[in-house]
Amino acid sequence: MSEKRKYTLPDLPYGYDALAPAISEAQLRIHHDKHHAAYVNGANAILERLEKAREAGTDLDMKATLKELSFQAGGHLLHSLFWGNLAPAAKSGAPASALAEALKGEFGSIERFKKEFSAAAATAEGSGWAALAWCWMTKRPLIMQIEKHNVNVYPMFRILMVLDVWEHAYYLDYKNERPRFVEAFWSIVNWDEVNRRFEAATK
Ligand code: MN
Repeated sequence: MSEKRKYTLPDLPYGYDALAPAISEAQLRIHHDKHHAAYVNGANAILERLEKAREAGTDLDMKATLKELSFQAGGHLLHSLFWGNLAPAAKSGAPASALAEALKGEFGSIERFKKEFSAAAATAEGSGWAALAWCWMTKRPLIMQIEKHNVNVYPMFRILMVLDVWEHAYYLDYKNERPRFVEAFWSIVNWDEVNRRFEAATK
Protein backbone atom coordinates (compact mmCIF):
# COMPACT_ATOMS: atom_id res chain seq x y z
CA MET A 1 0.00 0.00 0.00
CA SER A 2 2.63 2.54 -1.17
CA GLU A 3 4.43 4.51 1.50
CA LYS A 4 1.29 5.48 3.41
CA ARG A 5 1.04 4.56 7.07
CA LYS A 6 -0.62 1.28 7.98
CA TYR A 7 -1.92 -0.11 11.22
CA THR A 8 0.47 -2.48 12.98
CA LEU A 9 -0.09 -5.08 15.67
CA PRO A 10 1.59 -3.87 18.88
CA ASP A 11 3.58 -6.32 20.96
CA LEU A 12 2.14 -7.09 24.36
CA PRO A 13 3.90 -5.12 27.13
CA TYR A 14 4.30 -8.38 29.12
CA GLY A 15 4.77 -12.08 28.46
CA TYR A 16 1.94 -14.27 27.23
CA ASP A 17 1.91 -16.08 30.58
CA ALA A 18 2.06 -12.90 32.69
CA LEU A 19 -1.68 -12.49 33.25
CA ALA A 20 -2.40 -16.04 34.38
CA PRO A 21 -4.49 -17.30 36.02
CA ALA A 22 -6.89 -14.44 35.21
CA ILE A 23 -6.08 -14.89 31.51
CA SER A 24 -4.19 -18.05 30.54
CA GLU A 25 -1.27 -18.10 28.14
CA ALA A 26 -3.28 -19.99 25.52
CA GLN A 27 -6.17 -17.52 25.79
CA LEU A 28 -3.94 -14.47 25.57
CA ARG A 29 -1.93 -15.88 22.69
CA ILE A 30 -4.92 -16.59 20.47
CA HIS A 31 -6.60 -13.32 21.44
CA HIS A 32 -3.57 -11.19 20.57
CA ASP A 33 -1.95 -13.16 17.74
CA LYS A 34 -5.12 -14.20 15.93
CA HIS A 35 -8.09 -12.02 16.85
CA HIS A 36 -6.35 -8.67 17.30
CA ALA A 37 -4.13 -9.33 14.27
CA ALA A 38 -7.24 -9.97 12.17
CA TYR A 39 -8.54 -6.45 12.93
CA VAL A 40 -5.19 -4.91 12.00
CA ASN A 41 -5.16 -6.81 8.71
CA GLY A 42 -8.83 -6.09 8.11
CA ALA A 43 -8.43 -2.34 8.62
CA ASN A 44 -5.35 -2.22 6.37
CA ALA A 45 -7.16 -4.16 3.66
CA ILE A 46 -9.95 -1.59 3.61
CA LEU A 47 -7.51 1.32 3.45
CA GLU A 48 -5.87 -0.42 0.52
CA ARG A 49 -9.22 -1.00 -1.15
CA LEU A 50 -10.01 2.71 -0.82
CA GLU A 51 -6.61 3.66 -2.19
CA LYS A 52 -6.90 1.37 -5.19
CA ALA A 53 -10.37 2.62 -6.01
CA ARG A 54 -9.10 6.20 -5.89
CA GLU A 55 -6.17 5.36 -8.17
CA ALA A 56 -8.41 3.50 -10.62
CA GLY A 57 -11.19 6.05 -10.38
CA THR A 58 -13.73 3.35 -9.57
CA ASP A 59 -16.61 3.63 -7.12
CA LEU A 60 -16.95 1.77 -3.84
CA ASP A 61 -20.03 1.14 -1.74
CA MET A 62 -19.12 3.90 0.69
CA LYS A 63 -21.73 2.98 3.28
CA ALA A 64 -20.56 -0.63 3.53
CA THR A 65 -16.88 0.22 3.27
CA LEU A 66 -16.89 2.86 5.98
CA LYS A 67 -19.02 0.74 8.28
CA GLU A 68 -16.52 -2.10 7.91
CA LEU A 69 -13.56 0.24 8.48
CA SER A 70 -15.16 1.59 11.65
CA PHE A 71 -15.53 -1.97 12.93
CA GLN A 72 -12.03 -3.16 12.02
CA ALA A 73 -10.18 -0.02 13.10
CA GLY A 74 -12.30 0.21 16.24
CA GLY A 75 -11.34 -3.37 17.05
CA HIS A 76 -7.66 -2.59 16.59
CA LEU A 77 -7.76 0.57 18.71
CA LEU A 78 -9.76 -0.99 21.53
CA HIS A 79 -7.49 -4.04 21.72
CA SER A 80 -4.45 -1.77 21.81
CA LEU A 81 -5.98 0.11 24.75
CA PHE A 82 -6.95 -3.17 26.42
CA TRP A 83 -3.44 -4.68 26.47
CA GLY A 84 -2.11 -1.44 27.93
CA ASN A 85 -4.58 -1.35 30.80
CA LEU A 86 -3.75 -4.89 31.90
CA ALA A 87 -0.80 -5.91 34.07
CA PRO A 88 0.36 -8.93 36.04
CA ALA A 89 -1.60 -9.13 39.27
CA ALA A 90 1.44 -8.28 41.40
CA LYS A 91 1.78 -4.95 39.55
CA SER A 92 -1.91 -4.06 39.42
CA GLY A 93 -1.72 -1.12 41.83
CA ALA A 94 -4.64 1.15 42.66
CA PRO A 95 -6.36 4.29 41.38
CA ALA A 96 -4.17 7.31 42.23
CA SER A 97 -5.67 10.08 44.33
CA ALA A 98 -6.94 12.30 41.49
CA LEU A 99 -8.59 9.41 39.67
CA ALA A 100 -9.91 7.95 42.92
CA GLU A 101 -11.47 11.31 43.79
CA ALA A 102 -13.07 11.60 40.35
CA LEU A 103 -14.52 8.09 40.64
CA LYS A 104 -15.81 8.68 44.16
CA GLY A 105 -17.26 12.03 43.12
CA GLU A 106 -19.18 10.44 40.26
CA PHE A 107 -20.09 6.99 41.55
CA GLY A 108 -20.02 7.53 45.32
CA SER A 109 -17.28 4.97 45.92
CA ILE A 110 -14.71 2.89 44.07
CA GLU A 111 -16.75 -0.20 44.91
CA ARG A 112 -19.86 1.31 43.34
CA PHE A 113 -17.86 2.20 40.21
CA LYS A 114 -16.58 -1.37 39.94
CA LYS A 115 -20.10 -2.71 40.40
CA GLU A 116 -21.51 -0.54 37.60
CA PHE A 117 -18.57 -1.28 35.29
CA SER A 118 -18.87 -5.02 35.93
CA ALA A 119 -22.60 -4.87 35.23
CA ALA A 120 -21.96 -3.01 31.97
CA ALA A 121 -19.46 -5.71 30.97
CA ALA A 122 -21.72 -8.57 32.00
CA THR A 123 -24.76 -7.24 30.16
CA ALA A 124 -23.16 -6.15 26.86
CA GLU A 125 -25.32 -7.85 24.25
CA GLY A 126 -23.47 -10.33 22.11
CA SER A 127 -19.97 -9.02 21.51
CA GLY A 128 -18.77 -5.83 23.10
CA TRP A 129 -16.80 -3.93 25.68
CA ALA A 130 -17.13 -2.01 28.91
CA ALA A 131 -15.12 1.21 28.96
CA LEU A 132 -14.37 3.88 31.51
CA ALA A 133 -14.20 7.20 29.72
CA TRP A 134 -13.77 10.87 30.52
CA CYS A 135 -16.27 13.40 29.22
CA TRP A 136 -14.34 16.54 28.32
CA MET A 137 -17.55 18.61 28.32
CA THR A 138 -18.85 17.81 31.77
CA LYS A 139 -15.48 16.88 33.29
CA ARG A 140 -17.05 13.69 34.56
CA PRO A 141 -16.07 10.04 34.17
CA LEU A 142 -18.66 7.77 32.65
CA ILE A 143 -19.04 4.15 31.63
CA MET A 144 -19.61 3.24 28.01
CA GLN A 145 -21.05 -0.08 26.98
CA ILE A 146 -19.65 -0.55 23.49
CA GLU A 147 -21.37 -3.04 21.18
CA LYS A 148 -19.15 -4.82 18.65
CA HIS A 149 -16.17 -2.41 18.40
CA ASN A 150 -17.88 0.74 17.30
CA VAL A 151 -21.43 1.16 18.53
CA ASN A 152 -22.26 3.47 21.46
CA VAL A 153 -18.87 5.18 21.28
CA TYR A 154 -19.05 8.86 22.24
CA PRO A 155 -17.18 11.29 19.99
CA MET A 156 -13.97 12.63 21.54
CA PHE A 157 -14.49 11.07 24.94
CA ARG A 158 -11.14 9.91 26.28
CA ILE A 159 -11.08 6.20 27.01
CA LEU A 160 -9.23 5.42 30.25
CA MET A 161 -9.81 1.68 30.58
CA VAL A 162 -11.53 -1.06 28.59
CA LEU A 163 -12.58 -4.63 29.15
CA ASP A 164 -13.14 -6.93 26.20
CA VAL A 165 -16.14 -9.20 26.74
CA TRP A 166 -16.29 -10.79 23.33
CA GLU A 167 -16.44 -14.56 23.80
CA HIS A 168 -13.04 -14.82 22.09
CA ALA A 169 -11.58 -12.95 25.08
CA TYR A 170 -12.47 -15.55 27.69
CA TYR A 171 -14.01 -18.69 26.26
CA LEU A 172 -10.94 -20.94 26.58
CA ASP A 173 -10.63 -20.05 30.28
CA TYR A 174 -14.20 -19.49 31.41
CA LYS A 175 -16.43 -21.08 28.76
CA ASN A 176 -19.79 -19.32 28.99
CA GLU A 177 -19.17 -17.80 32.42
CA ARG A 178 -18.48 -14.19 31.50
CA PRO A 179 -19.08 -12.82 35.04
CA ARG A 180 -16.17 -14.93 36.34
CA PHE A 181 -13.90 -13.37 33.71
CA VAL A 182 -15.14 -9.90 34.64
CA GLU A 183 -14.38 -10.60 38.30
CA ALA A 184 -10.87 -11.82 37.42
CA PHE A 185 -10.27 -8.68 35.35
CA TRP A 186 -10.12 -6.56 38.50
CA SER A 187 -7.02 -8.45 39.66
CA ILE A 188 -5.05 -7.51 36.53
CA VAL A 189 -5.97 -3.86 35.93
CA ASN A 190 -2.89 -1.74 35.23
CA TRP A 191 -3.96 1.17 37.41
CA ASP A 192 -0.69 3.02 36.73
CA GLU A 193 -1.64 3.18 33.05
CA VAL A 194 -5.26 4.14 33.83
CA ASN A 195 -3.91 6.89 36.08
CA ARG A 196 -1.64 8.13 33.26
CA ARG A 197 -4.54 8.20 30.80
CA PHE A 198 -6.64 10.09 33.32
CA GLU A 199 -3.88 12.68 33.85
CA ALA A 200 -3.48 13.10 30.09
CA ALA A 201 -7.23 13.49 29.63
CA THR A 202 -7.67 16.03 32.41
CA LYS A 203 -4.56 18.21 32.19
MN1 MN B 1 -10.98 -9.17 21.62
